[in-house]
Amino acid sequence: MHARALEKEKGECGMTARILDGTKIRDAMFGELKDEVAILSSAGIRPGLAAVLVGNDPASQLYVKSKIAACEQLGMGSGLITPPSSATTAEMLAIVEDLNRDNDTDGILIQLPLPSQVDSKRVLEAVDPAKDVDGFHPVNLGRLVSGRPGLVACTLAGCMEILRRNEIAIEGANAVVLGRSDIVGKPMALLLMHANATVTICHSKTKDLANVVRRADIVVAAMGKAGFVQADWIKPGAAVIDVGTNRVTEAAEAERLFRNFPARLEKFRAKGNALVGDVHPDAVNVAGALTPVPGGVGPMTITMLMSNTVKAARMRRAKAIPRTISASGPAGSGAR
Ligand code: NAP
Repeated sequence: MHARALEKEKGECGMTARILDGTKIRDAMFGELKDEVAILSSAGIRPGLAAVLVGNDPASQLYVKSKIAACEQLGMGSGLITPPSSATTAEMLAIVEDLNRDNDTDGILIQLPLPSQVDSKRVLEAVDPAKDVDGFHPVNLGRLVSGRPGLVACTLAGCMEILRRNEIAIEGANAVVLGRSDIVGKPMALLLMHANATVTICHSKTKDLANVVRRADIVVAAMGKAGFVQADWIKPGAAVIDVGTNRVTEAAEAERLFRNFPARLEKFRAKGNALVGDVHPDAVNVAGALTPVPGGVGPMTITMLMSNTVKAARMRRAKAIPRTISASGPAGSGAR
């Protein structure tokens, strides 16, 4: 549900949580990034993103299209390379090498998944870490572990931005991260730890999960299980960042999730599916602040991709140009 619609329903149902609206933050950050791009461009450095899209997968095409549209909206350069679905690892490595050498390319985006004949790991690791705007390269992960500046994966950098821009206290907070994947849970826990939270990482073998979550001032849910985290697991007043994106299609499941949200249930019935997070929607009655799904973490991913590209341009080509934006803005976001 869009954050504004949730605010409306919140009013009607007497909900308590502040809605952490990712769409609003995206709009604010796009404004800041546009200014930053204009300043860099006037100094002859126009940040540029190159996307590599293999084959004709419609979902991937849509993702890449929206990323290129965002570049255009911000005045950034963009390029699209579209190898056929028969592309080999060697061909992909040659494309990456060309982009690594191209001075106008600040960010390289390899749209996943790659076809099965391509060694995805080899291709991703061939990307110059200075242009790795997805933040997946082992060099950038190593920098994250040691708390050194680098490029941080977009979704997680977006979660941190949501916390910071809503002035949610991280230092000294008990943070619980649900999920330990290499691309979400683990790096998220590191970011929170570097921001001086006391972090607990949970996974499928964690015992007494409900009580672990009950101690959290900040909960980050990244499990991929629709509405798994129950409202009574949330400490009253806690901040909840819901990274999960799950498409629900079963009527019984929708009824379990939306029992207190008639408008959402009605919409589900009309559409036949709904997007929900890992946290049960009822948590909005207990949490102090919460990201809606959709409209919370989701819009931050593309925002941070743009931010990372500007940051990469600045780190590689524009160190001498003074910053104009606050510490949590584009130049200062990501790892400390
Ligand atoms: P993943 O690789 O499947 O990892 C899921 C994690 O959740 C694992 O660590 C797993 O534990 C843990 N888990 C599963 N069931 C659990 C349970 N019953 N109790 C406790 N922990 C449990 O998923 P992912 O790639 O990290 O993604 C997580 C979610 O984030 C997905 O919904 C994904 O769609 C979403 N996501 C959203 C965005 C966005 O832009 N909003 C971006 C990326 C990902 P084990 O390690 O023990 O198996």
